Amino acid sequence: KRAKEQAEQANKAKSAFLATMSHEIRTPMNAIIGMADFVEDTSSQQERSEAMSIIKESGQALLTLINDILDLAKIESGEMALANEIFSVRDLIESVRSMMHYPATVQKKLELATYVGQDVPKAIVGDFRRIRQILINLVGNAIKFTNSGQILLSVASNSLAGDKASLQFSVKDTGIGIQEDRLEDIFKNFVQADETTHKKFGGTGLGLAISKRLVQSMNGKIWVESSSGKGSEFIFAIPIEVEDIESSEEYLGQEQNTIEMAFRTNSSETTFKSAAIISADSRILLAEDDPINQLVLLKIFKRLGLTPELAVNGLEALEMASAKRYDMIFMDVQMPEMDGLTAVKELREREKAQGDECHTNVVALTAFSLEGDEQMCIKAGMDDYLCKPINSFDLQRVLCRWVGSDAKATILNKRSLRADEVLVNKTRLETLYDEVGAETFETVTNISLLGIKEHSQELQKAIENGDSKLTGTIAHKLKGVCLQLGAVELGNYSNKLELLARKELSTEIKLLASTLEENVNKSYARIEKIIQEVLGNR
Ligand code: ADP
Repeated sequence: KRAKEQAEQANKAKSAFLATMSHEIRTPMNAIIGMADFVEDTSSQQERSEAMSIIKESGQALLTLINDILDLAKIESGEMALANEIFSVRDLIESVRSMMHYPATVQKKLELATYVGQDVPKAIVGDFRRIRQILINLVGNAIKFTNSGQILLSVASNSLAGDKASLQFSVKDTGIGIQEDRLEDIFKNFVQADETTHKKFGGTGLGLAISKRLVQSMNGKIWVESSSGKGSEFIFAIPIEVEDIESSEEYLGQEQNTIEMAFRTNSSETTFKSAAIISADSRILLAEDDPINQLVLLKIFKRLGLTPELAVNGLEALEMASAKRYDMIFMDVQMPEMDGLTAVKELREREKAQGDECHTNVVALTAFSLEGDEQMCIKAGMDDYLCKPINSFDLQRVLCRWVGSDAKATILNKRSLRADEVLVNKTRLETLYDEVGAETFETVTNISLLGIKEHSQELQKAIENGDSKLTGTIAHKLKGVCLQLGAVELGNYSNKLELLARKELSTEIKLLASTLEENVNKSYARIEKIIQEVLGNR
């Protein structure tokens, strides 16, 4: 009965979510269509350019919304693996400050100050991008909801046992503040402090929900201290691992404007790549068909002092890579003639034929999408991937990661790390526990584990009997249970079976199903273990 009630509740939440979503999409969409009509009808140049800027703004709002939704979906389905890289906390704060400088000081005439506590470790292990995403969101809100005064972004540290510490980030503003009875609700999906917020400030009410989930996935906590009219302070604390950089001989210090990045290449042993100043004569190939994207990317490369050669499709990229060795290839995924994934597969085949030594680093340039883009790229043979629109900061990070480093070791480690992370997502189970409490968590996970056993046995039978329709139906059920438990890999596997069954490709189904038992056993054991861990920890 409890499971049924829960399912009904989830269904209601889903309907409410869809209703809000359609509203959020329709508003900018209406503006775009309305303004496009207007542009067709008017001959006044000024009116046209005003309409165009509304179209652009609405498009931007839609893009933000889509990115937010994808982020949320990724976190919830357990597809978001956190990176474990070494980075400098000061660089992190500086990167947020420089990104927010213009909107804060030039556009809104606010003071934007940063402070890094003396005891904050120089380098830590964590997910740079995700922490920066949270900070940008909080500072962005602070700017939005402050009309005059100051915003202070600060970080302090508490050391814990051994190399563990807790970092506490704070974003404090002198803005409009939040009513005390709304302080918890604003962290929920689509919730804003009051009805007037949307009218006055826009926004979707997703930023804090995403931030909260990201912080939770890092085993941290986020909260706010504020009252109406008195400014707000958003604080989040996350446990981190400290890196002792002084003891590393290769470490060359942190000069400003020096692109330096250090990466963990092995989970037990940490190596530092020294300040990787990318040489201007690095041989870089950019494969991109869209002329606007070409222009933008070439500009960004130029700013970094680099001049890549250009290929306009996968085939051309492949020919160029055969004629000459590149230090790095940036490969758009969708291209005419031959797409990026096919091109990299072909490249890897050719490299294999020549022996292992000649691995060229290839970074995929992809449009952000739900379908596990990252895994797809890595599987095809890419070493890394960048989501469009690409900025110079991310480009630098990727260049530092791959140019001049011991690519092979890094690649091997990266892959094994990913494989382990994607098997079962612990965060999904922890979130479930936090959402429903111990008792329901046990009931739900027990039923789901039973479901995995039952469905996989039924699936085996359906496949043996060559019943595609039933195979599809059961594979779908299995997928649902897997997603519930954060069993990402088995979920993806079931999804593939379901797709093949829908196309009635019985030979392919049999081939894929030959590893069914093995896959189920592997994931089952891991889920059981994680469930015990979650129950034990909380
Ligand atoms: P959005 O900003 O898109 O509305 P968020 O989830 O980031 O969504 O924020 C939710 C709500 O919390 C905001 O709409 C606003 O009412 C409130 N809020 C967030 N940050 C601040 C702040 N610094 N000062 C005042 N109110 C804030």
